[in-house]
Amino acid sequence: APDSTQSLASLARADGVKYLLATFTTLTGKPCSKLVPVSAADELEAEGCGFAGYAAGGLGQVPADPDVVAVPDKSSYAPLPFVRPGLAMVHCDPHVNGVPYAFAPRVLLRRQLAAAADLGMTLSVGAEVEYFLVRRGPDGRLVTADAHDDADQPCYDTRGVTRMYDHLAAVSDAMDELGWGPYASDHEDGNGQFEQNFHYADALTTSDRVTTLRYVIQMLAEQRGMIATYMPKPFTDRTGSGMHLHLSLWGAEGARFPALVDEHGLGLSRTAYGFIAGLLEHAPAMQAVIAPTVNSYKRTGATSTASGATWAPRAATYGGNDRTHLVRVPDANRVELRAGDGAASSHLAAAVALGSGLDGIRRDLDPGAPGARRQDAPLLPRTLLDAVHALESDEVVTGVLDAVDPGAGVSRYYAELKREEFYAWHSRVSDWEVDRYLTSV
Ligand code: GLU
Ligand code: MG
Ligand code: MG
Repeated sequence: APDSTQSLASLARADGVKYLLATFTTLTGKPCSKLVPVSAADELEAEGCGFAGYAAGGLGQVPADPDVVAVPDKSSYAPLPFVRPGLAMVHCDPHVNGVPYAFAPRVLLRRQLAAAADLGMTLSVGAEVEYFLVRRGPDGRLVTADAHDDADQPCYDTRGVTRMYDHLAAVSDAMDELGWGPYASDHEDGNGQFEQNFHYADALTTSDRVTTLRYVIQMLAEQRGMIATYMPKPFTDRTGSGMHLHLSLWGAEGARFPALVDEHGLGLSRTAYGFIAGLLEHAPAMQAVIAPTVNSYKRTGATSTASGATWAPRAATYGGNDRTHLVRVPDANRVELRAGDGAASSHLAAAVALGSGLDGIRRDLDPGAPGARRQDAPLLPRTLLDAVHALESDEVVTGVLDAVDPGAGVSRYYAELKREEFYAWHSRVSDWEVDRYLTSV
């Protein structure tokens, strides 16, 4: 982490940085930035940087509202010379009228982290970023960037990672320079699909890094004439791109998942089972946040290999080292939440997961035996509209969205945004409908 006694300007100057991207994300995870010259870095640090929230979208603002002022968090400062020489990024906490803004994912995550701290716990997060590398073909259709993408079972394809070596290595080197501890890049289950991994960190740091990494991957792909996409399911017949989150709670003494008793044989404590039970109970509502697009439900709904099914969960179940569950427990140190996708705000995803898990701990919920709830486990919502309904009837998940200012209507605004997205999609006549109905009705 950067030296906190130094000013942003001196950190930047020491790295030869000329411009800082002062960045925050909207409720839908979209990064918004201003490019601030280093000569104005002191001003940025002292006063923040103003944005018209309405123009950014996804922030609950109308044109007459006061500016959203993005206040930089120096600890997130990261030089990005591999994107452009002299460029750096700093993540910001949006404020309005001098107070942290209730519609900002980073602010909402901080609130859940404070709630965990009240229980003597901190959250570490590891995030897996999956994406496709594509181009547009001559007819405008999407094709994968790898012209030889014909592997039968492309997961871990040796030639696939070799063909994309320049890009994958550039991304991995970038993470290494930033000190994030990259440890693997692989070819995923779909032709043209990749995943790049870095070491876990505290929840806020990892959430910032996911935002930064998605941007870095996209810019480095563009430099090679490719499009990197986190769209949850760009191809009907290939697997989707998830964003699995590995969550571990640390107690006051630094013990992971403070050990009490293990009732279900996975080596976990009662606290951990409560956390898992909270994730399962609130899973349907969480989907509206961690699988936030109409397209997300084509990933989680896939049932056959022909429709690209590969271990994206369909029901709210948990198990040991079994990738077919919503919550996988690879070892006694952490749980993996597998439901979210690349379209989710990393900050909001961590916030709703933590809020749901803490609810399970507070109520001392029991998830039952691993795998056993499979038959009667609630199915995850099949569409974005179902997810919005689940969200609206879940006070814990809406409570996470409304935590900073219960009167601001954040969850209502978010549900409305997503409902309108569903209807905007639904109102279009698709190829599927024409094929199905043209001559059959
Ligand atoms: N791509 C799968 C998903 O959408 C995950 C595959 C894996 O376990 O890495 O969740
Ligand atoms: Mg993966
Ligand atoms: Mg995983």
